[in-house]
Amino acid sequence: MTDALTGLLTRNSFHKQSQKILQDGKGGFAVIWFNLDNFKMFNNRFGFERGDEVLREIAMILGSVFTKSTLARFSDDSFVVLTDWATVEINIDMVQEYLYSLHEDVTLRLRAGIYFPSSYEDIRTACDRAKLACDSIRKNHNVSVCIFKEKMSRELALQQHILDHLDSAVKNDYIKILYQPIINISTGKICEIEALARWFDPELGLIPPNEFIPTLEQYREIQKVDLYAVKTVCREMCERRDNGLPYFPTSINLSRLDFELCDITREIDSYVTLNNIPRSMLNIEITESVNDEDPRVLRIGIEKFRALGYKVWMDDFGSGYSSLNVLKDYNFDTIKFDMKFLRGFDVNKSDKAKYIISSNLSMARLMGMEALAEGVETLEQFEYLRSIGFDKAQGYFFGKPMELDEIFTQEILSPI
Ligand code: C2E
Ligand code: MG
Ligand code: MG
Repeated sequence: MTDALTGLLTRNSFHKQSQKILQDGKGGFAVIWFNLDNFKMFNNRFGFERGDEVLREIAMILGSVFTKSTLARFSDDSFVVLTDWATVEINIDMVQEYLYSLHEDVTLRLRAGIYFPSSYEDIRTACDRAKLACDSIRKNHNVSVCIFKEKMSRELALQQHILDHLDSAVKNDYIKILYQPIINISTGKICEIEALARWFDPELGLIPPNEFIPTLEQYREIQKVDLYAVKTVCREMCERRDNGLPYFPTSINLSRLDFELCDITREIDSYVTLNNIPRSMLNIEITESVNDEDPRVLRIGIEKFRALGYKVWMDDFGSGYSSLNVLKDYNFDTIKFDMKFLRGFDVNKSDKAKYIISSNLSMARLMGMEALAEGVETLEQFEYLRSIGFDKAQGYFFGKPMELDEIFTQEILSPI
């Protein structure tokens, strides 16, 4: 399968083809992970169309320099090449010079990480190592190429621990679900809550979701955590209901991959109906980084949820470069504005930030969606959001993620 934008291989196809090439060859390969610096800035400054053009240009340059090689685009601005080790550094220089000559006016730095795999090595590990090398020079602007070193493996060791211990973490409830309040802006009271997973590992201590979720997505195991989260949320909700205690509609985070890895709609709905939970009590959040190999799977999944009566929310709107396309291509009931919109926001000064927030809010309204702002940390931010007509807000100002019982001790409170 190829990537629609650049015509290069997708991650999965690359893995399959390269694994075979590695195994069949006599060694002497290099895996290169390329990542473009400043790409988000470039998009913000010149627009997404020029951003896409640059990605196509890079694909073209890589194709002309790395002949007889296997090339892929893994995600937004990450490219991976499997090639002959002997010419690897000269070719990387050529690619970088070529790109520089096309864009002398802007600084577009294409960082490269190199790993030399053996023929029996797993290609995914080889790619991870090339990526680690590439990430290690992110902050060092004088260096653009880096070869993998063993000490970079610590991160890989964490990944391995996560993968090896996932099943026991689920079985032994090492994964806990905390809940963060969501406030109805016009009443100032809690109207919903969001379920957020944490992994309390007996050996390593707390592993936050930003560390274990990307790994589980990468290794296509994320559905195990997401289904566990749904079951825990339903169980805790039922316990409160059965004890005559109040409870709130709860939103759960799904990975776009869940839709590929299992029949997530059926799995969730059968659990919800089995426990007699009204579908309106569970909201589905899907993050905007929906950089899909096959967008139809997700589109169908979202529509199935909506047809059954679930509300589907777009999470982290504005955090990636494809936000507007995602809104165009999928139907959501609510947009969660990423906390980036409010970072460094000063109500009295930030005119531009205000224009951006309010015009995106108008757009949400025109599209018939509710608007929720994430990452609200100050009273000023809250009052500003109220003044321009946001529906809901969430953030440390109202409360950090907490145990379910604690939610009901908060002052801002309006259970059903
Ligand atoms: P998210 O869904 O956008 O969740 C919001 C994240 O922002 C949470 O981090 C929350 O603790 C944090 N946050 C909330 N208010 C504030 C604030 O005012 N300031 C700041 N600085 N941060 C705030 P957390 O819990 O670490 O989760 C990170 C991400 O991990 C989540 O982002 C979500 O994408 C993912 N995630 C969490 N649990 C699950 C899960 O069960 N399944 C899946 N697939 N993803 C999950
Ligand atoms: Mg979320
Ligand atoms: Mg979010």
